Amino acid sequence: MTPDQAVDELECPECGYKVEFFPTDSSRDCPECGTRIKKSRDRLRDDLACADWCPAAEECLGPDFSRVKEALERKKNETLQELLDSIPEEEKEVRSFFRKAYRESKDEEGLMDPEKTVKPLKDSNPELHEKVVKYYSEFTNGST
Ligand SMILES: [Zn+2]
Repeated sequence: MTPDQAVDELECPECGYKVEFFPTDSSRDCPECGTRIKKSRDRLRDDLACADWCPAAEECLGPDFSRVKEALERKKNETLQELLDSIPEEEKEVRSFFRKAYRESKDEEGLMDPEKTVKPLKDSNPELHEKVVKYYSEFTNGST
């Protein structure tokens, strides 16, 4: 993350002063008029995507940590569901592979870790590997 992305400006609703917010700030007092400015929950969650992988997240975010973690978990579940929805029902092996890969990568950034989950398949089950790569790349290309 570059410093440019790290600092955000939110306009004070009272005086219009641009107040700097760091990603971990959930609220700040306007230096001009003293109004308490709160960052929206969604905004905070997006800013705190670091909590997904950062080992210091709990310390860094304090009481917001569990809420953010929950939100990220929900988002990940939604992504898995979307992925499964994009795969035909009859591809049972592929679908169960993604479910398993997802469960095993709970702590990883993103839905799963291809290095650990997909790569080993190449030797053990080349056919499945091919399908997994195909569906996953179709899914990621389609959603960006
Ligand atoms: Zn103000």
